[in-house]
Amino acid sequence: MFQPAGGQLRVGVAIGEHVLDLAAVAAAGLLPADPAAFAAPSLNAFLALGRATWTATRRRVGELLTAGNTELRAAGLVPGALHPQDAVHLCLPVEVADYVDFYSSLEHATNLGRLFRPGGEPLLPNWRHLPVAYHGRAGTVVPSGTPIVRPCGQRLSPRAGEPSFGPSTRLDIELEVGFVVGVGSRLGTPVPAADAAEHIFGLVLVNDWSARDIQAWEYQPLGPFLGKSFATSISPWVVPLDALAPFRAPARPQDPPVLPYLRAEGDWALDLDLLVELHTAGMAARGLPPEVISRTNLRHVYWTMPQQLAHATVNGASLRTGDLFASGTVSGPEPGTYGSLIELTWGGTQPLRLPDGSERAFLEDGDTVTLRGWCGGDGGRPRVGFGAVSGQVQPAPLSG
Ligand code: MN
Repeated sequence: MFQPAGGQLRVGVAIGEHVLDLAAVAAAGLLPADPAAFAAPSLNAFLALGRATWTATRRRVGELLTAGNTELRAAGLVPGALHPQDAVHLCLPVEVADYVDFYSSLEHATNLGRLFRPGGEPLLPNWRHLPVAYHGRAGTVVPSGTPIVRPCGQRLSPRAGEPSFGPSTRLDIELEVGFVVGVGSRLGTPVPAADAAEHIFGLVLVNDWSARDIQAWEYQPLGPFLGKSFATSISPWVVPLDALAPFRAPARPQDPPVLPYLRAEGDWALDLDLLVELHTAGMAARGLPPEVISRTNLRHVYWTMPQQLAHATVNGASLRTGDLFASGTVSGPEPGTYGSLIELTWGGTQPLRLPDGSERAFLEDGDTVTLRGWCGGDGGRPRVGFGAVSGQVQPAPLSG
């Protein structure tokens, strides 16, 4: 979704450094879908049209953008319907219906288990049998660039053994990838894992901002609540599942074997490179570039998208157009591949040293975190970029 200067929200597709205005292209009768779906304030109307329309539209846009095709020019759409990306406002792509965040990285779940419950079994007994998740807050899913106000809340003071109220002192990020549901499902009817591609439109980058001190005090017994619900940032571009076909790979083996409803055929791991950049206010003031603090890949993740979808609906819960399902923090096997500060600094005990001479255990006001993702671009495979999702930490509105 984008907004040209002085114009209305509309659907666009990224082509190099430009955005092609699909509302204008559809109005000229060049797309195989109702033009109203592209002149809407979110992608939801287009998402509801289903896989056949998604695929036909993507194929047709590819055709229109092929060298030698003159249809856009003949319709008077070049250059008018092509906007430089930096001249438009990129907006929240989807009106998020429900938001669920999984916990699907074995390495992340193991690390967090060690940090939150030292001395115990890091993985709880259910973890290898079902994709664990919590319901997040759809209304606070925000587009890239939205400032993140440091949350206040209750934190347990280790010395006093009692809660106190104030700004979080352990503000963190979670590097995640989410999928957006296009076509919903009927209440009472589970979605089989085999039908996943009929429902999953595409993927976004997700930053599940997390206040670790608030989370640690509140999460037992019902899971994360205010430690997560203050903001979740997503990237402006939704990469269609169709565009990711060349990067799909066999999922990692699961031991023990999962129950039949969680078995999914096909290659559902995704070779998606991810990184986290941190830019402090001090680095920005000195003209220093952002520092890459983690590099990882989505293919490490244990539970796949069809398994997540099958599990989320196996009780008969229905899907809605615009539902967002996030992967959970993506962490790889080595320390430099962890997707959160609590892992990268091991609970804050090993702060990161930054190029401006400062240290970070958790985020400080003025820090900007940017997540980036891309597939391919190596050895002959095309490059499919996810763009970036970024947010700067603002001071808490009140203290004490
Ligand atoms: Mn998360």
